Amino acid sequence: MPGFEFFGDAERNELKDVLDNGILMRYGFDALRKGHYKAKSLEEELQNTLKVNHVQLVSSGTAAVSVALAIAGVGAGDEVIVPTFTFVATFEAVMMLGAIPVLVDIDETLTLDPVKVEQAITSKTKAIMPVHMCGSMANLDALQALCDAHNLKLIEDACQAVGGTYKNKYLGTYGNVGCLSFDFVKTITCGEGGAILTNNKEYAVNADQFSDHGHDHIGTDRGAESHPVLGYNFRISELHAAVGLAQVRRLKEFIAIQKQHYSILREELSKISEITFRKVPDGGEESYAFLNFYLPNLDIARKVSKKFKDQGIDACFHYYDNNWHYVRKWDHLKEIKSLYPISAEVKEGLKYLKDKTFDQSDHFIGRNISCLIKLSWSKDEVKKRAEKMVEIIKDSL
Ligand SMILES: *Cc1c(COP(=O)(O)O)cnc(C)c1O
Repeated sequence: MPGFEFFGDAERNELKDVLDNGILMRYGFDALRKGHYKAKSLEEELQNTLKVNHVQLVSSGTAAVSVALAIAGVGAGDEVIVPTFTFVATFEAVMMLGAIPVLVDIDETLTLDPVKVEQAITSKTKAIMPVHMCGSMANLDALQALCDAHNLKLIEDACQAVGGTYKNKYLGTYGNVGCLSFDFVKTITCGEGGAILTNNKEYAVNADQFSDHGHDHIGTDRGAESHPVLGYNFRISELHAAVGLAQVRRLKEFIAIQKQHYSILREELSKISEITFRKVPDGGEESYAFLNFYLPNLDIARKVSKKFKDQGIDACFHYYDNNWHYVRKWDHLKEIKSLYPISAEVKEGLKYLKDKTFDQSDHFIGRNISCLIKLSWSKDEVKKRAEKMVEIIKDSL
């Protein structure tokens, strides 16, 4: 996945361009910047590449999720349905807006289970936010049908799945609004950065204003602009956007490399009849950023994960034990360890987490191994790695 593996002259030249020009701020300074607008250019490049009408760059993926929720109208006391398997940014952003994250089980897609989502909808639910973890997507048609039936917004967190598609739409462009991350370890990187994707003009205007203190960005005199809404600073800098501009031009190449490596690994692992693979919803195509597979039970997954580590198969995750992408490790959320006071309503809304178990999620995450696909591997390295993985797994069954 990480685009940083391929840094080179393209990134250097884009950066040099900004430094030579001297304007590191994306807005204003029109007379001085001699026509250089890296953030604006990256937004246009993303619009064309991902076939979406509007892109708003921001300072991180977490910022993108926060802005997406805000423009979708999520706020005080609202409930947002999110998966048990995600990055912590998901519930952090919901809580920063004074809303309540309602964690719902995942299914064999490793993303939100539409059946469990329907059971979790209440009169307070405002949005459903699937997270397309590890390069593959939720069943978006099923989630959209629930949104239509209950008048909810669909917000896609596609931070880990840029370049994947569902029914011929790029992930992040299917729902009302989508989010991407360009942090240092993502498929394309700005160092730090993120984007909001939408086909809704009003959302686009609101994202533009909200992410820059409510500035309306009309005219060239920043001091004279009006401020139709309250906002915040979620701006990206020209330096970050410059790196992203070099990277996004290689997105299709990166995805093709990921697919090639993924296919070699998958073919080799398919020789083991006890292994099954993550389900990809009909009409979906992964970004191939990770290969996810299931072992027969938790004990075997633990054994395999340990042997992978001990024997140099790096970048494979057993999220059940190792990482903080899964509800089991979120004690700081369950105990609401907040530095500032949280409203009584949100506290009440989070009480369910104290003793709730997520057996269905455990069933899938407990058996899952998720292997990051690196861009820099040679074909030969992938082949050798695949053979070693098969040997270790066979030895552990
Ligand atoms: C990386 C990530 C984020 C947050 O992105 P940052 O740019 O690191 O803030 C949000 N959601 C998911 C699923 C992620 O993987």
